Amino acid sequence: MEVHQVEIVMSAVRESQYPTDDLPEVAFVGRSNVGKSSFTNVLINRKSFARTSAQPGKTQTLNFYKVENQIFFVDVPGYGYAKVSKKAREDFAVMIGEYLRKRQPLKGIVQLVDARHLPSKEDIEMYNWLISEDIGLPVLVVATKADKISRGKWNKVEADIKRSLQFNEELSDFEIFSAETKYGKDNVWDWLEARMLD
Ligand code: GDP
Repeated sequence: MEVHQVEIVMSAVRESQYPTDDLPEVAFVGRSNVGKSSFTNVLINRKSFARTSAQPGKTQTLNFYKVENQIFFVDVPGYGYAKVSKKAREDFAVMIGEYLRKRQPLKGIVQLVDARHLPSKEDIEMYNWLISEDIGLPVLVVATKADKISRGKWNKVEADIKRSLQFNEELSDFEIFSAETKYGKDNVWDWLEARMLD
């Protein structure tokens, strides 16, 4: 999709604040600093629409971006925060859990991982939960920052990440991505359009 129009619609901290437009939603998840804002900005052709470099301790909200009046991108704040209180972390985990499990317009989930490293324990736990029956939505794993790895190693990176996640080929798909070169952008959009906009 060639994106011309994007609105930040809202930051929500509770269900009553989620949009009621009845458009399909895709959630973007990943640990802080994985490159989620950069990924979002490439998909929507903006330089700095989504915030880059999350600040630890900032208010944690679900951010909804309405794209071309057709789909909401839902930025789920990075897991792996240490600087907020335990209570705030738990409240937030409950909110995300309920959003991902129960949100009716949610049609798919993109999980970002860093192509340079094997998935962390949290990445693996998140992936396994996302493909479980508890959620039951299509999952796209995106290995980002691929420009930091030579092209000749991409197949190995994919194989290593998949092995580490115990990747399920039936329930999920995989793409290599770079926000620097925009490699993978069209494939990600194809995946979104096929799963969200049919
Ligand atoms: P977020 O916290 O997940 O939203 O991550 P950001 O998008 O803010 O990115 C974190 C850092 O990684 C920033 O310094 C980005 O410039 C950098 N970054 C993100 N994506 C890429 C990429 O594809 N390639 C390279 N080389 N750097 C990236």
